[in-house]
Parts: sequence; structure tokens; C-alpha cells
Amino acid sequence: MTASALNLEVAAAARRVIVIGAGLSGLRTAMLLQKIGFEVRVVEGRNRVGGRVFTLDHLSGHPEAGSNVIGPNYGRILDVANSLKLAIEESPRPFASGYIINGEKISRESWPASLQNPFPSDLKKITPDRIVATLLKKNPLQGTSDWRKPVNKDLDVSAIDVFRASGLSNEALKLIDSNNSYGNSLSETSVLALYRVSRSYERAMSMKKKVFEVENGNMRLPERMASSLLDPPILGEQVISVNRSDGFTRVKTYSGKEILGDAVVFALPTSALQKIHIEPQLPSDQAQAFEQLSYHKILQIHLLAQELFWKSPQDYAGYWTNGPLGRIFTRPIPDSEKANITIWINGDSCDQFVSQSREQAISNILSIYYKQVPEARGKVTFGEYIDWITNPFNEGAWAIWGPGDIGRYADLLYRPSGRYFFAGEHTAYSNAGMEGAMESADRVVIEVLRALS
Ligand SMILES: Cc1cc2nc3c(=O)[nH]c(=O)nc-3n(C[C@H](O)[C@H](O)[C@H](O)COP(=O)(O)OP(=O)(O)OC[C@H]3O[C@@H](n4cnc5c(N)ncnc54)[C@H](O)[C@@H]3O)c2cc1C
Repeated sequence: MTASALNLEVAAAARRVIVIGAGLSGLRTAMLLQKIGFEVRVVEGRNRVGGRVFTLDHLSGHPEAGSNVIGPNYGRILDVANSLKLAIEESPRPFASGYIINGEKISRESWPASLQNPFPSDLKKITPDRIVATLLKKNPLQGTSDWRKPVNKDLDVSAIDVFRASGLSNEALKLIDSNNSYGNSLSETSVLALYRVSRSYERAMSMKKKVFEVENGNMRLPERMASSLLDPPILGEQVISVNRSDGFTRVKTYSGKEILGDAVVFALPTSALQKIHIEPQLPSDQAQAFEQLSYHKILQIHLLAQELFWKSPQDYAGYWTNGPLGRIFTRPIPDSEKANITIWINGDSCDQFVSQSREQAISNILSIYYKQVPEARGKVTFGEYIDWITNPFNEGAWAIWGPGDIGRYADLLYRPSGRYFFAGEHTAYSNAGMEGAMESADRVVIEVLRALS
């Protein structure tokens, strides 16, 4: 580089913000900072944008491996999609689903009298997928951000203890634990986190609108956001170190690329953030918080149903099971007689498959599937195996909160440290998921403005 080119680069770097991660939080941060007049560089380790929004474009029906549901309360997502002229549509009406409990297929109607139903008499009518919502009906949280208020700290305790105290048997607790989406096991889940989700869900439902998805796949949203940036995200460059010295911040990638800036926004899960060498070191309480935050385990197998094979009265398109496969979701492919099927394994049930090779895991999962759903044999084709657990760019699906975690360190996860700022769904206050990622960007942009203006 010539001396004058170097001077120009240094001058540009003085007002440049580097965003690590091209998921929704990083992209919204970049869009907002660009709008305000900052020069922004987004660096992304994968060869695509979107992070945990990931549409399987190579499969018929373009099923979602990552985020699938856009709630009616997702104001920021809907607004950005609208402003970028992306079509948002209502999700197709799902097929009716049933239950497979201890290997037995049970319909919604026959559940109350089923011999497999372990719930006490006043809860017999409640199906296994609705029981947690029912137990949390008397929600002490008034608003969607109340889970962070110190006044609610006494609720930051194990969900299993709270449910046991309400009179549920061990058998009932075990059943509920089969498909808990907000912890890898109920004993490691804070009931405060469940109240938070429940309040958020109720708020969405109170809007009396359907859930949405982006036409042709949710990944179109981060793609369109990325293309609205003046400097496109730098893809395939995994950041390995961030260093601040001589008034500049240097971001280095695995391939040896170095980007100079004035500030860095880390817009990535803490599991990935911890792999980056950061100088000067983060305060020890914050570094510990990053270490302690856990992520939900999810494995998926995506199948294509070549025909709608659930024809006899005892068969269903999808199932909630208490077996190792968790849940089986089936989504119609509009204007066809085909459907996308996702076997969705959660929490600690994933462990047995994660320890196997990919081929072994696929074969074992499919053999359990055909045993439970024999009518699918010969009617489905394999699409994709998705392991959200060992993927180095996230190591899990979303942040989960164990008993005491929220009070102990939730506020440390987003505390700015010098010229380092933190975004991502795990730092959101009022919203979760995609909308939480967008909300976190709004906060981090204000922090950057305060520090750099
Ligand atoms: C299976 C699944 C289902 C989901 N379903 C829903 C749903 O229905 N509704 C909903 O609202 N939410 C859902 N979510 C959650 C939602 O997808 C996430 O909350 C949101 O997309 C997170 O955005 P983010 O920007 O915080 O993080 P991410 O999307 O993880 O973005 C972080 C980015 O950083 C990159 N990165 C990581 N390490 C490095 C590095 N060292 N250098 C450079 N780049 C790096 C990653 O590749 C990634 O692109 C789901 C998630 C999963 C996994």
C-alpha cells in the first residue's frame, strides 16, 4: 500500500464500525449505523448471511432449518421486510397432528381417557403439548420485559421443582420434559424463563393474527438486508482475534485478513464469541457470563413426503412424541400433494445421536422413525440432516436460562466494554428469537452512538 493509500485507509478506519456476524442482529446493526452515517464492515464466518435463519433452498418446498415462525408481534421484522419490499405471507394451514406416547399413537380426542395419560384428574383433558402453558396460566409477569426485573428474582428457580410442587407425578414430569424448547432438561430450566416465553406468546396471540413467513423462505430477509448495505458483508472469513491498540481496533480472520476500525459490534452467540481472542481482555465477570450461558440443543432430519400417506384414521401427518425423536412436524407444500417433514429432536435427547457419525445418526433416527411411523416407509425421501449443536458458528439453537442464571449474569451479556459492543438474540430484553435479534441491534446502535459521536 502506498503512503497516501495508507493514510486514506487510516482516516476511513477512524469512523468505521466492524460488525462480526451477518445474522439478523449484525445486519440490522449495520443497516442502522449506515443510515446514521457510519462506515460499516460486516464480517461473516459462513459463506452465507442469515446465521440461524437458514432456508434449505436445495429441497422442494424450501423448508426452514432455522427460524421458521414470524409472530404477528414481530414489529421490526415486519417493518424491515416491508421497507425492503419483501413479500410476507401467512404460513400454510398445518395438517392435524397426534401423539405417540410410549410407542402408542393417540389422537387429541382420545388423550383424556388414554392409559398413557399421567396427568392428575383436573388436567387430564390437557394434551402434552399444552400442559406447560396451562401450568403457567397464572403468570406473575405483566409485560414481556418483566423477567428482567429484580422484583421477580424469586421465580428464577428450577421449573421441575415448581411443577412438582403443583402436584405432578414423576411420570407426568418426565412426559413434560420430553419436548421442552427452553432448556435441555426441565431441571436446568428457570421457570422465570418459561413465564417470559408464555407472556410473549400470549401477547402475540392477543393480536388475533396468524403467524407469517417470508415468501420463498425466511432467508430472503437477511439476504435483502445484506444487499441494502453499501459495503456487502465479507463472507467466509471467520474472525479469530480482535485487538485494540494505538487508537484502532484490528479484527483478524482465520485466513489472515485484517480489518481496521474504531469499534466492534460482536453480533454472534456467546458460544462462538468465546473462540475469538480479545485484547484487551474483557472484564472477568463478563467473560464468565459468556462462558456460562447455555444454548438449546436441536437436531433435525428433513424429509420430503412424496404423497400424503397418513390415510388411515389412526395415522397423523405430525406427532408430538415422548420418544427420542421429540416432534415430527409436517408442512404442506402449497399446490402439491407433497409435504415437508421435519423430525425435530430437542434437548438432552440429542446427546445419543450427536456422539455418532453423521451417517450412523441419520440411519438410527430413520429406523426409529419408521418403527413409530411405519406408514411412511417408501413414501418419504431423505433431504437433509441438520446439527445445530456442533456447528462452530453457534453451538446450539438459542440461549437458554438455567435456575439463577438471569439474575446472575443476563445484564452482563450486553455491557459495552471500551470500544467493544454486544448484540444478538441472547442480549434482548423484551423479545426472543428473530425479533429479539433485531431489538438487540436497536440497543447496540444507541450505545455505539453514545460512545462515538
Ligand atoms: C432450529 C431453529 C429454529 C428457530 N425458530 C425460530 C422461530 O420460529 N422464530 C424465531 O423468532 N426465532 C427462531 N429461531 C431463533 C432465531 O433464528 C435466532 O434468534 C436469530 O436468528 C439469531 O440472530 P443473531 O443475529 O442473534 O445470531 P445468528 O443468526 O447466530 O448470527 C450470528 C452470525 O455470526 C456468525 N459468526 C459466528 N462466529 C463467527 C466468527 N468467529 N467470525 C465471523 N462470523 C461469525 C455466524 O455464522 C452467524 O451468521 C430459531 C433458531 C433455530 C436454530
